[in-house]
Amino acid sequence: MWQRRVGGVADVVAAGSLAHGGAMNRREVVAAAAAVAVGRRRPSQPEWAGWRVDGDRINRWLDELGRFGANPDGGVSRVGFGDADLQARAWFMDLMRSVGLAPAVDPAGNILAKVDGAEPGAKPLIFGSHIDSVPNGGRYDGTVGSLAAVEVATTLRSRGYRNRHPFWLAVWADEESGLVGSRGFLGAIGPDELAATRTKDREPLGALIKRVGGDPEAVAGYRHDRGSIAGYLELHIEQGGLLEQWGTDIGVVQGIVGILGFDVVVTGFANHAGTTPMVGRRNALLAASELALAVDRVVKSQPGRQVGTVGRFEVRPGAQNVIPGEVHLSIELRDLDMAKLERLWREIETAGNAIMRRRATSWTVARRPANVAAVSDLSVRGAVTEAARGLGLSSKAMPSGAGHDAQNLARIGPMGMIFVPSVGGISHAPKEFTAPADVTNGVNVLLQTLLRLDQG
Ligand SMILES: [Zn+2]
Repeated sequence: MWQRRVGGVADVVAAGSLAHGGAMNRREVVAAAAAVAVGRRRPSQPEWAGWRVDGDRINRWLDELGRFGANPDGGVSRVGFGDADLQARAWFMDLMRSVGLAPAVDPAGNILAKVDGAEPGAKPLIFGSHIDSVPNGGRYDGTVGSLAAVEVATTLRSRGYRNRHPFWLAVWADEESGLVGSRGFLGAIGPDELAATRTKDREPLGALIKRVGGDPEAVAGYRHDRGSIAGYLELHIEQGGLLEQWGTDIGVVQGIVGILGFDVVVTGFANHAGTTPMVGRRNALLAASELALAVDRVVKSQPGRQVGTVGRFEVRPGAQNVIPGEVHLSIELRDLDMAKLERLWREIETAGNAIMRRRATSWTVARRPANVAAVSDLSVRGAVTEAARGLGLSSKAMPSGAGHDAQNLARIGPMGMIFVPSVGGISHAPKEFTAPADVTNGVNVLLQTLLRLDQG
């Protein structure tokens, strides 16, 4: 859609002269003219290394998109498939059309704008994010990466860039309630899930997908397999406070952490809080509290960025005058290294067994299906690092503690993510904020990384 046909040898000499500092020998002119003849224009690195996005434009688009589902406190409620999401999607597709892209909705409800590539048989490079939000969420989560894709495409078009690979700009549907659209893209949504009505919806998922222009009947046969894409890139706000704390411009994401989750029931003996002596009580709350402290201690006992959390803690019967007989709690461990998570869990188990013996209580553990870590591709990571360096920006490798559509795309091809700082580390809340200059930096890194991947 946005490929400039280069007129002839004169244009090529002009373009080539930027790279060669003037003189081009006869052989180069002939080679360059031949490239034009097959419709390719591959500028040399020194030319495109200087290309920059329009920071004012992307930040203005962010403000405009922030109107959909806006809350008085500055955030947005734009839950996937809700009215505000539908309005935002319509606006987004209009924006894509206004810059010369041709968006369409795929069977799973994702917005995809495909730009043909010049090289026959080259696999697509996909980049984008999502525009739905959590209830009472922020204006930057997902929107930065989605609008960045349009900004990058607009910049490349204005430069007359002819992409080798097909470029697919993606806005994944309903990211916040289980990465719905990107799972549908892989072919991982089955008939049961399409027929089911989730707690937050009034209608089955299939009907919701249909409402945004998807095709639930075609979802079953829709899939993208391993090896079918050249790469996936997603720019996203960090949603944590590390980049700000380090004073670093760009996070080069090593991967999206895996999660081990456990539902635990600690059982003691509920009895009268007045008549039962202190000695010999089987207090489930005290045993469960020690267990929560053990999770914290074990996770902190090793170097690394692993985290462990007891996030749910329900005391039963939960009466002032009854010794707690039962506690239901969750334990969650996250890291990029699944083997490390298993080791940490074994240590917690050992500690837990000792606590239960000492407190004369017992525990049962139900393990949830693991979320396997998605490691980003080393060469894509290298391209992000180089891109940042070329822009004079500082960067640092880091894991993503939050889930992203990128973890699904990593299953079918080389994945990379670029993080920009979140002020105060606040996200999924109205105070979520990323400074306009940081947004612009991130979009420039996306542009320069994409060019490296397309040329490389
Ligand atoms: Zn997000």
